[in-house]
Amino acid sequence: MRTDYHMHTPLCGHAAGMPRDYVLAAQKAGLAEIGFSDHNPMPTQFDDWRMAPDQLPVYLKMIAEVQSEFPDYPIRLGLECDFIPNFEGHIRYLADQADWDYLIGSVHYVTPDWDIDNPKHLKRWTEHPVEDIWQSYFDAYTKMVESCLFDFVAHPDLVKKFGHRPAGDLSRFYLRTLDAIAEAGVTLEINTAGLRKDVREIYPSRDFLVAAHARHIPIVINSDAHDPKEVGADFDLAYALAREVGYTKVMRFAKRKAKAVGIA
Ligand SMILES: [Zn+2]
Ligand SMILES: [Zn+2]
Repeated sequence: MRTDYHMHTPLCGHAAGMPRDYVLAAQKAGLAEIGFSDHNPMPTQFDDWRMAPDQLPVYLKMIAEVQSEFPDYPIRLGLECDFIPNFEGHIRYLADQADWDYLIGSVHYVTPDWDIDNPKHLKRWTEHPVEDIWQSYFDAYTKMVESCLFDFVAHPDLVKKFGHRPAGDLSRFYLRTLDAIAEAGVTLEINTAGLRKDVREIYPSRDFLVAAHARHIPIVINSDAHDPKEVGADFDLAYALAREVGYTKVMRFAKRKAKAVGIA
């Protein structure tokens, strides 16, 4: 039975539909368990794609309400946290603000003012060598993993979103990151949102996942839905990919504990 732990709410300002619409979509897709994980608030208004600094209680109430509306359906409480150097204390603060089932670690920012997946900064890709941007991204991602603040780490090669890729074998960027993931014992996300972006590819790439499997890194498969119609999107492809590279288990999350179950 499948799960989807990466789903957003209207609070982030770039997602459609209410939580109940996501639940109905998940039930229709035959998912056994889901979880919401909206973009974390920052201490001050940081950008225009996350809940406002004072909206965490609104988010918690929204999820509590949908949980009581569907008492027989497991709906987990998560949060997608941006790893930004010097804000580790803020993540620790957030971790204490609710009885989370899981915290997701993400890297969107390669510098304090450049969220690399934001189309409004596309021009910057022409102003810096793609090699350097990839290196900054994976340096940040490795630091995030080493912080050990998160239960799973999201969309591992998000830096490819718009199709910018250095030439040659890309393992030179991510093998160090994978070693850190194995060392930290954190779960790696397979995220189908990349199929809906310019790159038209699951995050991470097959080669990346092969190297993850060789290191016995556990996985979780998610859609990163920002619309009810994206819940469980392309899971057949993602599960097939996981099985092809040798995975037989995926992780489930509750109260910040991970448990392996057979792959569906
Ligand atoms: Zn988002
Ligand atoms: Zn997300």
